[in-house]
Amino acid sequence: MKTIGILGGMSWVSTALYYKHINKQVQRELGGSSSAKILLWSFNFAEIENQQKQGKWKELTQKLLHAAHALEAAGADMLRIATNTMHICAAELEKKINIPLIHITDATGELLVNKNIKKVALLGTRYVIEHDFYRGMLQEKYHLDVFCPKGDHLDDVHNIIFNELCRNIFKDSSRKRYVEIIEKLQNDGAQAVILGCTEIGLLIKASDISIPIFDTCLIHASAAAKAAILKT
Ligand code: GLU
Repeated sequence: MKTIGILGGMSWVSTALYYKHINKQVQRELGGSSSAKILLWSFNFAEIENQQKQGKWKELTQKLLHAAHALEAAGADMLRIATNTMHICAAELEKKINIPLIHITDATGELLVNKNIKKVALLGTRYVIEHDFYRGMLQEKYHLDVFCPKGDHLDDVHNIIFNELCRNIFKDSSRKRYVEIIEKLQNDGAQAVILGCTEIGLLIKASDISIPIFDTCLIHASAAAKAAILKT
């Protein structure tokens, strides 16, 4: 079995989900008391959040690169960045490490294409929605038509992520607001919704809405488990 290196703590709430989901899948596939080999580097999210707010993406890339090298040196065979937003650094990291980085957008895009989805809603932080690294990849590499929240819808999605979900707070009022926002994007033509923030799956369940959910946390974790136990 290969060792999975995880850059986590962004936030700890979803890193705990990655850990659980990867282990459950490995146990299911290999049986008995099997569990995953994982090396976890967990950041203090308050520091990451501050640097994001200040747009210090170069400094953040250096921070993640330092951790990625440490995981590689400790024996990780592959790397996961356990957040959508910080994939803003993925291309730079990929150039500078010697182990494969499985991109969260690839794992998700491949699944959407397999399910024959052409028009998809994307929920995520303002950084995911407004920068091009994520939406652009879905559009150009996977030929998807991507519908994103705008204006006060985007403000609410973003603020709920940082002020609640990443702090392990889940409110009914926020669930209702997210449902409203997803339904607007569905009315615009979206056939499915990408939960493009690794904590949203803890707030919104498939039964809350009438279009299929693609939860990036579970998709990415599942791809990691599969790659770790793949016999080559
Ligand atoms: N976990 C979130 C994501 O998937 C947000 C935390 C962050 O800003 O990294 O984007």
